[in-house]
Order: sequence, then structure tokens, then C-alpha cells
Amino acid sequence: MPDEMARPLIRERGEGAGSRNFEASMSELGAPVVGILGTGDFSRSLATRLVASGYQVVVGSRTPKRSVALFPEEAEVTTQLEAASQADLVFVAVFPEHHSTLVQLKPALAGKTLVDVSNGLRVNRDGPSNAERLADMFPESSVVKGFNTISAWTLQMGPRDGSRQVFLCSNSSKAKSPVMQLCRRMGFIPVDMGLLSSSLEIENLPLYLFPSWRIPVICTLSLFLFFYLYNFLRDILQPYVTARKSVFYKMPIETVNVTLPCVALVMMALVYLPGLLAAFLQLWWGTKYKRFPCWLDRWLTGRKQFGLCSFMCAVLHAIYSLCLPMRKSARYKLLNLAFKQVKDQVEVSWVEEDVWRMELYLSAGIMALGLLSLLAVTSLPTVSNTVNWREFSFIQSTLGYCTLSMATLHTLLFGWNRAFDPGQYRFNLPPTFMLVLILPITVLLGRLALFVPCVAGRLRQIRRGWEKSRHIRFILPEDNCRNGVEDVSHV
Ligand code: NAP
Repeated sequence: MPDEMARPLIRERGEGAGSRNFEASMSELGAPVVGILGTGDFSRSLATRLVASGYQVVVGSRTPKRSVALFPEEAEVTTQLEAASQADLVFVAVFPEHHSTLVQLKPALAGKTLVDVSNGLRVNRDGPSNAERLADMFPESSVVKGFNTISAWTLQMGPRDGSRQVFLCSNSSKAKSPVMQLCRRMGFIPVDMGLLSSSLEIENLPLYLFPSWRIPVICTLSLFLFFYLYNFLRDILQPYVTARKSVFYKMPIETVNVTLPCVALVMMALVYLPGLLAAFLQLWWGTKYKRFPCWLDRWLTGRKQFGLCSFMCAVLHAIYSLCLPMRKSARYKLLNLAFKQVKDQVEVSWVEEDVWRMELYLSAGIMALGLLSLLAVTSLPTVSNTVNWREFSFIQSTLGYCTLSMATLHTLLFGWNRAFDPGQYRFNLPPTFMLVLILPITVLLGRLALFVPCVAGRLRQIRRGWEKSRHIRFILPEDNCRNGVEDVSHV
């Protein structure tokens, strides 16, 4: 396979190779002429891709002579006016602040389609968008917004790398459909976003930096910091202060490893808590026709990200745990213990209770990680698109609660009877696992409460439109209305 990266993206213009022959043949085939205004990075990549897709390309520049060598030889580089006159479909590949310099082309562009590919410098929430301003500047042309979410690099490499979706919008469906066709011919997937009023949203898309991840990531980091400091205080500082015992070597691995499962479990509980809050609010209000507070709405829509953060911490915990015996400190400890036992001639005692605790603890942990991996995989759009709503809700809700129960059991088995050991209350602080268990146990108990028949029945009624204040007599048909779907789960 030839090395794609070694091949120049834009070929040098060959000696005596005129573009006219190619254009003539394309015209015979009836290939439409596509114009591009501007000769920057985007324009060059777009021209290359259009030529490769069989289009006839005319590029309009303020200084055509200077730019001609940068384009594929099949593309014609000419003046802005000539490009605007030749093509019916014109890409405006200049920065929006320079759109006004194109007004002299107004007569040449009248009745034609202008594709605005521009992006803003920062998120614009109030409008108008660049495309709307361009449409005001050229009222006799039809403006289509699109291609701004595709980078020049993706255009050069073709749609096999990077995003394949091209978001398009326009007030003229007649103008939009050839652009959608062009998109498909170039190997991209057009996504119709409706009228030009959507252009503001399309222009903002490339400017967002993980908007739905901000709160879950902040939550993960804050929890990590809190539990790390808590564990540091109890496991490292306490022995140093009370017995001058230096165990600071535990900081990079052991303390991190006991912190990660705490974060994973609390984050997992935070995935299911908003659904419970929503259910209890609906029960309290006696209606589902009242909007949840904004924070709860946002929390409900961010559950996937919370779950994925939890998954990441759980995977890291598993890897750290597997690495524990590889450490020099662990080997020294083991050898010293063995040496001491040989020296004292004592046999290593087999404590049945400890053996069982460890076996059960590890098994529950592996099970929880396996289920959590399944949840993470099913949350990927490519996988979730292949399951129906009932299957998705079964995995994310029923299996999700099984995962939470298993992870809680894992932590309970870790604690075993240590909660009753006064030696565990260092600096009068309860052991970490006790703090960690508060939220998951609350969530699991809340979920159990929703299983109580009278509560579940009322919630089912509310979800099917019953309202407390209206006093409408409402009888749920037995099982056929439920259609076998679990009612209290899809919150
Ligand atoms: P660029 O490299 O700076 O090119 C802009 C071109 O605009 C210049 O080469 C220039 O060509 C032309 N131009 C026309 N009138 C101008 C004026 N009055 N002053 C300065 N230049 C003028 O920019 P680009 O990266 O290609 O971006 C072009 C547009 O595509 C922008 O709106 C950008 O937001 C959008 N876009 C870019 C990318 C990307 O990856 N680069 C991705 C998505 C969207 P002549 O000198 O030949 O006239």
C-alpha cells in the first residue's frame, strides 16, 4: 500500500499542463462548475477534494497569479469576479470579517447559491450568525451554511479520517439540495439542520470544548482530591504523627489505588441518583407535567458522562491492583515476613475467614467491573443504535442497578467487620469505605422504595398522565399497558 502521508497533497503545476483540457472533458460529462472565493488553507483542501470527486473548480482570488501554483492543476484560478460569474454554486472561503469586501460581486452572484463555511472566534449565543449576515449582504443569492465543522485537514485526507458529518442549513431547500448532493459525492454525510436560523448553532459547534463533560470531570477530580486527602490523612500522616513511621512511599500507588474505587463508586451512585430524585419529585408533585429544576435536567442528561468517568476510575483501580505485587515494597514486605517466620519457626496460619473474605471481595469486584464495561460499551452511539429502547433501558437501568449493587457489595466485603474495630478510627475519622457507602446505599434503598406496590403503582399512573390536582379517575389497564416494560426504571 503506498504511503499516503508521503504523497504530496497538492501536486505541483506541471510544465505546459493546461487545465482547459480537463475542464472541457468535464463539461462534456456535464459536471457542474463549483466556485470558491479565497485561496487559503480551506479553499486549497476543498478544491483538491472537489477535483477528486469529479467537479470542475474555479477559484476566485484577489491575486490569482500568486495563488495559482498552490492549487491542483485541474482547478482554474482566476479573479473573484470571473469565478463568481462562471459558477452557480460558490463557496465563500474567506474569514467573515472580510465578507463585506465581496459586495462588489453582488450582481455576478445574484440568483446563485453561496455556501458559507466560516467559523467565529468565540461562542456566539445572541446572533446574528455569520451566515445570516452574509444572507443580509447578498439578498439576491441563496445562502447555505455548512462545512465549517470539517477541517481543512479532513478535506485533504478525505472522509475516511475525522468526522464524516456535514451539518447544513438554508432557507432555500432548492439551494440546499445540490449542496447535499455535492456532500455525498465527496464522501461526507450531509445532516439537514433546517432553516438558516440553525446556522448560529452550527457555527458554535466547533467552538465547544467538551461541553457535556465539564461537570462530570469536575466532579471526578473533586472527589478524587477529597478522597486522596482523606486517605493520606488516615493512612500516611496518622502513622507518621503518632509513631514517627514514614510510609510516604505509599502515596503514588497505594493511596491512589484506594482512592480510585471510592471515586468510581460515588460517581456510579451519581448516575442513578438523579433518576430517583426525578421519580420522587413526580410522586411529590403528583404530576409529570411540571418541569424539573434546571440542575436536575442537566444532571439527567449528563448521566452517560458520569458513568464513563466511573468506568475509567474502576478500570484504573483494577490495573493498579494487579500491579500491587510487582512493587519493590511489596516484595520486601513478603520476604521479610517469610524470613521472620522461618527464623521464629512459625507456620503461616490459614485464616479461613480471611480467605473467604478475599475470595468473595475479588469476585464481586470483577463482576462489577465486567458489568460496568458492558454499560460503557452500550453507551457508545454505534452500539446503542443497534438496540431498541427496551433493550437499552434494560441494560442501562436494570443491569446498571445490578452493577451498583455488585460494586457496593465489593466495598462491603472489603470493610467486612472493620467498621467495628476501634483501631480503624484514626484521628477519629471513620474508615473511607464507610463514607463511600453512604450514597450508593441511599440510592439502592431509594430504588427499593420505588418497588413498594403502592408507590410503584402511583408512579406508573403519573407516568401515564394521571394528575393529583385534577382528580381524574384513572385506571391502568393491567399488563398490556405496561407492555412488559419496567415503569419505574426509565427516569
Ligand atoms: P486563510 O488561509 O487565511 O484564507 C483566507 C483567504 O481569504 C485568503 O487566502 C484570501 O485569498 C481570501 N480573502 C478574500 N478577501 C480577503 C480580505 N479582504 N482579506 C484577507 N483575505 C481575503 O483562511 P482559511 O483557513 O482558509 O479559512 C477560510 C474560511 O474557512 C474561514 O471563514 C474559516 O473560518 C473557514 N474554515 C476554515 C477551516 C480550516 O481548517 N482552515 C475549517 C473550517 C472552516 P486571496 O488573497 O487569494 O483573495
